Amino acid sequence: AASLRFEGVTKRYDNTEALAGIDLDVAAGSFVALVGASGSGKSTLLKTINRLVEPTSGRVLLDGEDVTSRDATAMRRTMGYVFQRIGLFPHLSVAENIAIGPRLVGERLSEDRIGELLTLVDLDPSMAARLPDALSGGQQQRVGVARALAGNPALLLMDEPFGALDPVTRDALGERVRDLHERLDLTTIMVTHDMAEALILADRVLVMDAGSIVADETPQALASGK
Ligand code: ADP
Ligand code: ADP
Repeated sequence: AASLRFEGVTKRYDNTEALAGIDLDVAAGSFVALVGASGSGKSTLLKTINRLVEPTSGRVLLDGEDVTSRDATAMRRTMGYVFQRIGLFPHLSVAENIAIGPRLVGERLSEDRIGELLTLVDLDPSMAARLPDALSGGQQQRVGVARALAGNPALLLMDEPFGALDPVTRDALGERVRDLHERLDLTTIMVTHDMAEALILADRVLVMDAGSIVADETPQALASGK
């Protein structure tokens, strides 16, 4: 698992201050939920970690090292990223979708490894040859999670990973991800609109408003304080 530190991180887009100065430590092994209204800066904060967004000022440290000082490709390999809109390539098989990250850096995943990754997310290894269209939305997002785990990351970043799924599928996949978080020794950061989901899955809930963190609580404290 990886640790993270944000030091005075700001992000400005033209007239919008998306991040207003974030100071935050995330201990290795924690499962953090980022909640808050639409536009409060959750996605922007997540994207400063894998450098999809460069801060206007301040810095983000991964295991004590500024993320901008490392080779971006090498650094992203230590991170898995799960998108809201799943984002599987429709013309590639499930196996090819899962293997795409390692392939971009010249590595092949064995059939066994792909089967193992599918099993981790409760899919049958026989699904490897299918095209994404032949899968349900929930199965597709399971593949999205398997793809994020393909490089053995120390950090799992998820941007509204379950938002598009029906409630039953969402709960089942949430439980599975929580379980993988423990078993694979991950540090996990999940953006969500859903406070109930945050309270169930995370061990630390950060509430964002207008680019700032306005609450930083355990689920127990949040649940008993309201
Ligand atoms: P959230 O994830 O909480 O919905 P975002 O981080 O996506 O919030 O956005 C924070 C603010 O920054 C919003 O006002 C949004 O419109 C703005 N924003 C995000 N990305 C961009 C961008 N690429 N260009 C301009 N404004 C952006
Ligand atoms: P996702 O959750 O898949 O990132 P979003 O709708 O939050 O989807 O954002 C899609 C993309 O548009 C993101 O890269 C985000 O940074 C960008 N974006 C968000 N708000 C704005 C905005 N106001 N102006 C320009 N780009 C934006």
